[in-house]
Amino acid sequence: MGSARIVVIGTGYVGLTTGACLASLGHQVTCVDVDGAKVARLAAGQVDILEPGLEELVARGLATGRLHFVLSSRSAVVEAEGVFLCVPTPMGAGGAADLRAVEAVIDEISGSLPAGCAVITKSTVPVGTAQRIRALLGRGDVPVVANPEFLREGTAVSDFLNPDRIVVGSDEEHAARWVAELYTDLAAPSVVTDAASAELVKYAANCFLAMKLSYVNAVAELCERLGADIESVTEGMGYDRRIGRSFLKPGPGWGGSCLPKDTHALVQVAESVGFDFSLLSAAIGENIAQRDRIVAKIAGTVGGSLTGARVGVLGLAFKAGTNDLRDSPALSVTAMLAAHGAEVTAYDPAVGGELPGMRIVDDPYQTAKGADAIVVLTEWDEFCRLDWTYIADLMHGDSVVDTRNLLDPQAVLGAGLTWLGLGRPRAR
Ligand code: NAD
Repeated sequence: MGSARIVVIGTGYVGLTTGACLASLGHQVTCVDVDGAKVARLAAGQVDILEPGLEELVARGLATGRLHFVLSSRSAVVEAEGVFLCVPTPMGAGGAADLRAVEAVIDEISGSLPAGCAVITKSTVPVGTAQRIRALLGRGDVPVVANPEFLREGTAVSDFLNPDRIVVGSDEEHAARWVAELYTDLAAPSVVTDAASAELVKYAANCFLAMKLSYVNAVAELCERLGADIESVTEGMGYDRRIGRSFLKPGPGWGGSCLPKDTHALVQVAESVGFDFSLLSAAIGENIAQRDRIVAKIAGTVGGSLTGARVGVLGLAFKAGTNDLRDSPALSVTAMLAAHGAEVTAYDPAVGGELPGMRIVDDPYQTAKGADAIVVLTEWDEFCRLDWTYIADLMHGDSVVDTRNLLDPQAVLGAGLTWLGLGRPRAR
């Protein structure tokens, strides 16, 4: 395929990455957002989100004239061949996906779309959304295509340009094939299917990952109770090619802007067709229990009560490599610590400013001053290089709780501190 005229609506993690990457593949891209200040910053080449390579791609797109940023979707779409919807689909009432942003965009552009222009959902949308969009559009000359996105925050550009697969689905096959061809240069396998199947792929994949994490967190808990070591257990499991090594590391619970809302949304979708997806509901319950267990573990290291305890927190982002705090398990744990009366001082290399229930500092060592316990909640590499002897000098207590099994226990022990990981023998 040559260069296509594309409009991307929503310039967050998914939309901006999609727009900048499609421009880098040679397409002519106009990105739209309702946030005027953001549009102005992007048009000046300023990228707010922390994504390696994204700012450079945006700069190149602007310099080559293949990437534009505008405020009005109505005028942007009049000459488009494809319009990607990359707007939020947060958790709504009762756990179902809230499609109001998608509907608002459709309402705005439906009268301006040229005949034959494909409307493509890249936002994560429940099964049936393509049909619903068709009904809202009320036009037989505009095909609707589901093209879910699988990029991960922190590696968004490289994931977009080197995907494991491209999934496109439409009840109009020619439109699905046209969208798949936009990505031909990426040389990834593509699954071209009907709209409902494409929509379900995204949820089925994300929910599977969430279940895998809940499973490994539960196995880590078993390890603690049975005297086994999760590192050896997951190493032994991971060699099995049917299981694989990824998503086998225990942690403080899964979070971020996708897994919590997508798991709840799929439970709701299942319920709407009379199916009790108890397997998935149990994974959600296990994730809540994991946070409770982490808080209890921290309380245990400071004598049982968190009231008045000083806790230094390392890491607030939902995972390393991003400054995204949406549904971060680190924030949930920190909020629970504060609710139990702990005094929390937190550091994250990508997060500044103010947050309720804690004092944020810009130096990791400041979290240790007078602390009874230090808790690692995000797996930032830089925490592995901390000077634990210096930290021990600064601390009041001697507990290090490593909810990511990130640190070298010997380095912590060598400084005269105790180290407590997940599913691992306590190191003293
Ligand atoms: P985001 O919150 O980072 O960005 C959404 C953007 O859309 C914002 O800039 C917002 O101003 C804009 N917006 C909202 N309403 C709009 C409207 N009516 N018109 C134009 N712009 C509008 O969201 P995100 O993380 O990029 O997620 C977008 C979608 O992609 C969601 O459905 C999400 O589930 C899905 N997704 C996200 C990821 C991820 O890792 N973040 C990965 C895959 C899929």
